[in-house]
Amino acid sequence: MSADRAPSVSGDAPDRVVIVHLFPDALNLYGDRGNILSLTRRAAWRGIGAEVRGIGAGDGAALAGADVIFIGGGADQHQRAVADALIELADPLRRAIDDGAALLAVCAGYQNLGHAFRSPLVGEIPGPGLLDVETEMPVGAERFVGGIALELDADSPIAAADPSGRRRVVGFENHSGRTTLGPTMRPLGRVVFGRGNDGSSGFEGAIAMPGEGGLRGLRIGTYLHGPLLPRNPHLADFVLASGLGRGRAVALPPLPDDPEWDAHQRFAADWTAIRPGVYRRSRIGRLRDRLGALIGF
Ligand code: GLN
Repeated sequence: MSADRAPSVSGDAPDRVVIVHLFPDALNLYGDRGNILSLTRRAAWRGIGAEVRGIGAGDGAALAGADVIFIGGGADQHQRAVADALIELADPLRRAIDDGAALLAVCAGYQNLGHAFRSPLVGEIPGPGLLDVETEMPVGAERFVGGIALELDADSPIAAADPSGRRRVVGFENHSGRTTLGPTMRPLGRVVFGRGNDGSSGFEGAIAMPGEGGLRGLRIGTYLHGPLLPRNPHLADFVLASGLGRGRAVALPPLPDDPEWDAHQRFAADWTAIRPGVYRRSRIGRLRDRLGALIGF
């Protein structure tokens, strides 16, 4: 994006953002790294420099001073591979979030940061419980694959923070896990099309606002890949503003986001056009899904 899109820097926004990317190599399905690019560019366009720290096992010290923490998606085997390291990072992660860092967790990250993830492929993976959710992948479960759109509630803080009040969020989901929310989180949005948390509740994702659930930072978990933030600039800014303000969102000057909203609109239109057939798997396809779940393919 060109420099001519940059508005003046808001007086109360800090001039630097620290973004921590958890397990960037193991968990980076469908270009989840694009979320980091989106955050750094949106910061840069406002004159805010970004420091990105990719961290893995034993890097807890690097969480100090984090403004935004991001974790992406991966296969069950990747989730198993990072599980122990994630438990070891639980305390520094909790401290960073309680210090006001905003957490965004996508798909496998959403599942792994909850209380537990149970899969027939890799067994039970206990999580650090930073998101008040739990995920179960039933044997032979239908895989939810395709475009998804959510509608934020009318009183959603994300819509309220967006100057245009846009309430739709779009992305791509690919998961067999079914996620249930605990009492300290509420759904991110209502499914307009696609499957969402469990394919039947009509809800997608989980959000806890700063101060809720005993932690001072924002927490969002979602199944949306795509990557999520480039075509949902309202959500990108919500996370950025909350992290920069350590739980008290700073005012970010608006950006001319026409290309982002075009991409958002085109994605929604494409998937609206093809969606009737998307989830109807053939009998052979369903059999292959079941077999795959059993042999770990
Ligand atoms: N392995 C998980 C599932 O299929 C997460 C996949 C992902 O991150 N896309 O439920």
